[in-house]
Amino acid sequence: MITTSATAEGLGAFVDASPSPFHVCATVAAELEAAGYSRLHETDEWTQAAGRRYVIRGGSLIAWNGDGAALGAALRIVGGHTDSPNLRLKQHPDRRSAGLATVALEPYGGAWLNSWLDRDLGLSGRLAYEGPSGVEYALVTIDEPVLRVPQLAIHLSEDRKGVHLDPQRHVDALRGVESAEPIVDWVAARAGLAPGGVLGWELMTHDLAPSRLIGTDAEFLSAPRLDNQGTCYAGLRALLDAAAGDAVPMLALFDHEEVGSGSERGASSDFLVTVCERLVAGLGGGREDFLRTMAASICVSGDMAHATHPNYPDRHEPGHLIAVGGGPVLKVNQNLRYASDAVGEAEFALACRAAGVPLQRYVHRADLPCGSTIGPLTATRTGLRTVDVGAPQLAMHSSRELMGAADVPMYSAALQAFLAG
Ligand code: ZN
Repeated sequence: MITTSATAEGLGAFVDASPSPFHVCATVAAELEAAGYSRLHETDEWTQAAGRRYVIRGGSLIAWNGDGAALGAALRIVGGHTDSPNLRLKQHPDRRSAGLATVALEPYGGAWLNSWLDRDLGLSGRLAYEGPSGVEYALVTIDEPVLRVPQLAIHLSEDRKGVHLDPQRHVDALRGVESAEPIVDWVAARAGLAPGGVLGWELMTHDLAPSRLIGTDAEFLSAPRLDNQGTCYAGLRALLDAAAGDAVPMLALFDHEEVGSGSERGASSDFLVTVCERLVAGLGGGREDFLRTMAASICVSGDMAHATHPNYPDRHEPGHLIAVGGGPVLKVNQNLRYASDAVGEAEFALACRAAGVPLQRYVHRADLPCGSTIGPLTATRTGLRTVDVGAPQLAMHSSRELMGAADVPMYSAALQAFLAG
């Protein structure tokens, strides 16, 4: 058995503090700093790559514990993603319709649009402005109910069976009646910036209802963004809890997974591979050492998994039902929507055994399109052996998701055992 500091309440607090990918990085960085990690900047020369370090690139973060690391040490990497589907501000967001002030929003990723209706929404993200030394940016969080996308009344729908939601016409949010100040200026003022001074932004909405344990026996965690902050949190606790070994434990969290990972900071970028190369160089190694290290290393791609839905059991592969509270999930797909292969599967099975937690094996129905993860992209970009895993959840991509409280510590313990090697 492994001792873990991960709890469902801890995950809830993590999610509530992290409404955007940039905030996930800030939340993780604060925990790392408290544990003696220090930040490296990609523009600096890395003379101190050994030890406890982390790097941030936009909404992505890579951290490692290189205490006592020797040249030739393998890397054991837990990967995940920091972004979640949501509704984001357009470039000309200020509108008026039916005598009301509205804000034009655009879905990001595969947002389950019906779940964003009739929720009190806050705003978060980052604002870019001209500072003394060029473009700078500030994070902003508005945890107040400033926006709302109201549902159409049932009496106005065509057949009282609900309405088809058009992402262009039906997800703009109400902000007021008379409100005339540009919404970006209003947000800028909240961030202490001058009106008109904001030159670029990545602003997104979040549901304000706090995470909480629910059920008659409080066996579920009800929270937004479990996909994939469930992995960000479990991976962070695993990194902080992992005992030092021969291998270097690493956490790699990427932005933009929900839109395909193709960006300067997504899993298809050079972020992970360049950090690994510079880490080896920081230990005194050259190109040959770097290539040997990568060949000896392995990555667990962590992302949430579909628990079997009690109202829709027919939507799941009948021989691979996944139980809420049943432990970590190994994800396998013959068409490589997941990167798992036999050797990677065995590595994760060993980690679960070492952690003393059960392992569930997931296969998607062959007649339904299977989602993907950073796993196949990371494997392609880096050549790392990669295995796709996750924790069970329901209501994936809803603005409000659900998972088993007991799965949080079991998932983190398995990741911890994997990192320890
Ligand atoms: Zn995901």
